[in-house]
Formats: sequence, structure tokens, C-alpha cells
Amino acid sequence: MSSDALPPAPKAAEEAAAYASRGWAVIPLYGLRDGVCTCRDGRSCTSPGKHPKWPAWQTRGMTEAGEAAMWFLEHPGDNIGIVCGSSGLMVVDIDSEEGERTAAQWDLPATLEARTRRGRHLYFRARGETVNSIKFAGLDVKAGNGFVVAPPSARADGGMYEWVNDLAVVEAPESLMQAVWRASTERKKSVAGAMVGGETIPDGYRDDALASAAGTMRHRGLTEEEILAALMVMNKRCDPPLDERDVQRIARSVSGYQPTDPILDRLRKDAPLVREEAEAAAQWSVLSAPELCAMESETQENFAGALLWRGARLVIGGHTGHGKTAFVLELVKAAVQGKPFLGFERPAEPLRVLMVDLEQGLRTVQRRLKLSGLSECDGLDYLRVPDGIRLDQSPAERAELEGIVKRGGYDIVVIDPLYKAHGGDSLDERAMVDLMRVLDAWREQYGFALVIPMHMRKPPSGPQGKGTLSMHDVFGSSGLIRGAEVVVGIERLEENRARLHFWKDREGDLPVGKKWVLKFSAADGYEVLNEGKIVSNDERIVTALRDANGGGMTYSQLGTELGIKKRTLEGHMAGLEKDGVVEAKVGPRGSKTWFIKDDEIDRFEALVSAPEAEL
Ligand SMILES: [Zn+2]
Repeated sequence: MSSDALPPAPKAAEEAAAYASRGWAVIPLYGLRDGVCTCRDGRSCTSPGKHPKWPAWQTRGMTEAGEAAMWFLEHPGDNIGIVCGSSGLMVVDIDSEEGERTAAQWDLPATLEARTRRGRHLYFRARGETVNSIKFAGLDVKAGNGFVVAPPSARADGGMYEWVNDLAVVEAPESLMQAVWRASTERKKSVAGAMVGGETIPDGYRDDALASAAGTMRHRGLTEEEILAALMVMNKRCDPPLDERDVQRIARSVSGYQPTDPILDRLRKDAPLVREEAEAAAQWSVLSAPELCAMESETQENFAGALLWRGARLVIGGHTGHGKTAFVLELVKAAVQGKPFLGFERPAEPLRVLMVDLEQGLRTVQRRLKLSGLSECDGLDYLRVPDGIRLDQSPAERAELEGIVKRGGYDIVVIDPLYKAHGGDSLDERAMVDLMRVLDAWREQYGFALVIPMHMRKPPSGPQGKGTLSMHDVFGSSGLIRGAEVVVGIERLEENRARLHFWKDREGDLPVGKKWVLKFSAADGYEVLNEGKIVSNDERIVTALRDANGGGMTYSQLGTELGIKKRTLEGHMAGLEKDGVVEAKVGPRGSKTWFIKDDEIDRFEALVSAPEAEL
């Protein structure tokens, strides 16, 4: 781990791999570009180059060399973080003269050491039960769910974190441990004392004490103004008092505003005592409508524009053999290559995808990957369990898959087919809700988007398996669709042509109710042929007749279903009959029942799906 002068990305990858192979949990941090944080806050970031890129990073550290290397090769410029507790580390972070004096009292042994912007990091092996990060005068001891920025990360002053020696990491000495244990106890007392009143709140406890008190007040129903007023009084006991803006921020953060406020966030991650109280306070807060509307929602991180974003559940319905898998593979390909899919906005950077394949044989998968040009793709991982898994019934299998998802840091997880992911009946509401509860908790915690291809319940009608799709025919209980942010359907029209149905979009950004005709080629993937064009009455009539599944429809039935007047219908039916698409059977009293002529569907489809067709 010497600091020779390799260019940043390969060096970062190399070092990250070395850390992972010694069992340290490596996470990516936002980096710095021209001294500005690469996160979306940019210049206004309060912790430039020093905060994790991943949600739930505490449990997602990479401990495999290849994985860590790959991440930093693919994300040049990311800084490297090490999660202390899961790496078995306790790091003394000294950043001032005062800190040096504190550390001197502990008579610390020589150990692995890194140079930081204002001081140094001393790496020790953690001992005994987990302790959490704790502040001392002029220094922090980082442990538990704390993390450190590791070499060769960039610093805000233009320099780099670097190792100053390559000594072995020695065990934390008794002196340090005693200090940490004592301080943990004192901290609990101090924060608790501050709640009771009277005592001075020293530097290092101020944020925690005020946030904790604020949490309790919020929990008891005080408004932001009331909490702020109380905190301003309490702040007089702080030595020195906090900046008024920080006090306002604490009052605001517990009052139900932005949940990712840095202070509350840090409390949640770093300080268990206060975290519990802050979280208890944050639970079940009733907000008025204006309060709710004033809340800042988190920025959506799009993977494929309005079709797929971080944390979303996308269900793709389609009959067997209608190209669901090809569609999913194209979506995945765009994601891992960081390219746009179907003209939707591309992801900010190439994504990592896990395909949980519960059905296909190895050769089928290999062939598909080769055909889609994904066989050389590193951003795509496959988990094949052809016998299926039982997330609802087997704690061991659930833990195994959770471990894989957690360690992999995936942005997208595809589960295909879903019915083989649980032991229950996918048509059973309860069983589906239970399965989704597991998967939804994971997508929330690990921040991936869940993609579920599903087959259709109703058999396709017409020749060559063509049928009209409806969202309600997607296999599985309604629990699957209900919790999905986006539901689309894919329907094969003819060789290399498919129709994409937009059925549901919770955000309202997709053309729900519309259909796009897609042209597919191995070289270019999908191309949208008739985006945004209005579906013609002829097409709607044919669709309705096909839905009738050979039952036929009268003028009055068609009129009711489509909202088209009989006189208008007569004109359309005459045209369709002349084109040989439909035929009428005449009843005893001269009433006509219309049927689709199945052998003519192909011709009709070709007609309406052609790009230049008048729709
Ligand atoms: Zn930042």
C-alpha cells in the first residue's frame, strides 16, 4: 500500500481491492472534481468528497477484491470509504493540536497511519463488543457504523489521503478502550442530563443533546416554532453555543421536514443512543397538508427516465414467447452500459444489475447473453437457481439472497419468474403480499429497483399466439400490480416487431393507455416506431373483437364498450369487412354480430404497425 504515482482510477481500484482482501468493508464515497463534491449538491455540499454514495452503506461494504476493484475502475474519481465496525477497525481521527494532546494521554502504539487534510488517521483493530464512534477533545474515534475516508482519496484542499507507513494494524490498546468506554457512558449521561436540565452541554455533545431534546418535544406534539424556541433557550447552556442556523436546522429536521437532513442523518447512522430517540420521534408524525406539501422529497434517481428509477418496482407483463425476456435484456443492457433505453433518459452512470434467474438452463442463458451482446458485460451478474427459491418459507434462502443483494450493491435486481421466488401461490393475495413485503423491504434498504417480468393469465387469442393484453391479465394476485410504480405489457406483433403497452405509472410521467410499436434489431435494439400516435378507431374495434375471444360483438356491445356511435361504427365495419379483417353473422331479425377473421390479423397488424401507416 505504498503511494507510488499511478493515475488515480487504477490506483484507487488497486488499493480498494487490497483493502477488501484484508477483510475491510469498502464503500464508494462521492469524489471531488476541481474541489467540488461530485454529489448533486455540488458546491453547496456540506461534506465534500466525504460522504457515501450508497444508501444503507453501513451494511453494504465490499469485501471481495474483484468487486471492489471493478467498482473503482468503473467509477474513476470516487473516493474510498471503509466502514469501521464491519472491517473490525477502530480509527483514531486526529485533526488538531488539541487532538494530538488527547491522543498523547493514551500512549498509542505505532500502527498503520494515513495522512489526512488536517491531521492523521491511526488504524487499530477493534476489540470486544461493538462500540460506536465517539468524539473527544480535538479527535474522533471512528468505530461501529462510522466510516473513514481512506487513501488514495482526494481531499478538498487538492491533496490526497495517503499512507505514511505500511505498518501492521495493531490491536486497540487498553488505554484507548478505557477512554472509549468511559466516554460512551458519559455521553449517555450527558445527553440524558441535558434533557433534565441545569448542566452545561460541552462541545461534542451539543448537536446530540439538542437533537435528542427536539426529538422528544416533537414526539410530544410540539410544533417547529415551539421546539425552536425551547432549543434557543437550551442552546444558552451549550459551551460554546451552537450557531443559530444549526439550531434552526435541528428544529426543522425533527419537525418532519427533509428526512435526510445531515444532522438527523448522522445521528441515525452514528449515535445509537440519540438515534433511537430521534427515530422514535420521527415515527408516526402527523403532518398537516401544508406541512406535507412543504416537505422536500428526495430527488428521483432515474435509471431509464420515467420507466425505471432507484427503488421503483417495474412489472412487465407478456405472453410466453412474446419477447418479455428480450425486452428485459435490452433494458438491462442499456442500464449496464449507461445508455438510454427506448429514448428514455439514461442513468447518470453505468449501473450494476443482478439477474435472479429461477428457470433457465445454463445454455439458454449463455445463448441469450451472447445474442444480446451482454456476454462480456461485467456490470451484469447472474444468480441461477433453476429449482426456484422460497423467500417466504426458508429463512436460510432468504438470508442467502439478501446477502448477495447487499454485498453486490446492485442498482437493479430482476427476478424471473416471480412465482418461483416463493413457496406460496402467486395468485393468493396473502402469499403475494408476504413475498412483496420481503422484496420491498430490501429495495428500500439496499436501494435497488426491482424488475419483474410476468406472464399473462389469459391464453393469447388468435393465430400465432397474438392477443390483446390488459393489465388485469398479468399473472399473480393484484398485490403485485398494486404495489408497482410502473406496469407495462409487451406483445409480439410479428418478427422483430412488438407493441409496448403503458398500463400504470404512479408518477404520471408515462403515456398510460398508449401503446408504442417497437422495432427490434440485434444491432440497434429497440426503436420506437409510432410513439405518441393516436390509436385509430379501426384498431380499437379489432382489439375489442379479439378480446371477445371468438364470441363476436353486436353494434350495441361495440358501441357501449368503445363509446362510438352506431352510425360511425357502421362506416368502420364496412371498411374492415371490405379489407377482409372482420366478418358479420346475421341473426334471425337481421341484427349483425361481428367477428374477427383470425387469418387476417397479421395483415392488419402489419398495416397498423407500419411507421408510415395512417393511424
Ligand atoms: Zn457531496
